[in-house]
This record gives sequence, structure tokens and C-alpha cells, in this order.
Amino acid sequence: MADCIFCKIKDQEIPNYKVYEDDKVYAFLDMSQVTKGHTLIIPKKHVSDIFEYDDQLAMDLSTRIPKIARALRTAFPEMEGMNIINNNGEVAYQSVFHSHVHLIPRYGKEDDFS
Ligand code: ADP
Repeated sequence: MADCIFCKIKDQEIPNYKVYEDDKVYAFLDMSQVTKGHTLIIPKKHVSDIFEYDDQLAMDLSTRIPKIARALRTAFPEMEGMNIINNNGEVAYQSVFHSHVHLIPRYGKEDDFS
């Protein structure tokens, strides 16, 4: 989609730190790292939010979440847990309208996310 910032990221038109890529999804570090390793996973196909997913796309994205979560835990072995968040609609604090899932590693009670 022409004016979508996340489409431009997956097409490498905007600089980003790639975490994972395959034919269906792209994952990259969030530019505002809530905690170290905060990653966004997007479907390569442009959909705005969860309401536009068909079953196949839902399967494509959801099967990558644990795989990328494990890769992050390997990269950051001090991680103790992870929040997985998906915002849909302005009212739910979605600010970029290319659907994405946040993977937010947690390092203990002293990390800066609550
Ligand atoms: P929120 O802004 O409330 O977290 P979203 O769930 O829509 O809403 O998240 C969008 C995320 O995209 C934000 O965490 C933001 O930091 C991130 N982001 C926006 N632009 C870029 C970019 N160019 N590169 C990496 N991350 C980005």
C-alpha cells in the first residue's frame, strides 16, 4: 500500500532493524523500545487490523509468533517473560494502520513497562 509506513519498512524503503522475514511475515525492532528487543511482527500483505484477516492470514501470522518469541529469548537470555500485544483501532491505541503484533520482552519487575 503506497502510503503505509510498515509496507515501506518490509520493502526496505525505510531503514529498520530486521529480526525475521519469510514469505508471509516481516519482523523488526520497534523504534521506541519499550524494553530491549521490543519487536513488531507484521503480515507482508497489507491489512489494517484484525478485522481484515482471513483464516489463512491469521494462521500465517500466529504461527510465527512463538517462533520469533523463542528467537528473542535466545538473543536475550536474561529475559524472564514477554508481553504480546495487538491494538486494533484508534480507540484501542493503534497508531499505525498496518496490523502488527508487539513482542515486548520482560526482564523483571524493574523494567520500564507496566
Ligand atoms: P502505539 O503507538 O500506541 O504503540 P501501535 O500498536 O499502532 O500503537 O504501535 C505502533 C508502533 O509502531 C509503535 O510502537 C511505534 O513506536 C512503532 N513505529 C512507528 N514507526 C516506526 C518505524 N519507522 N520503525 C519502527 N517502529 C515504528
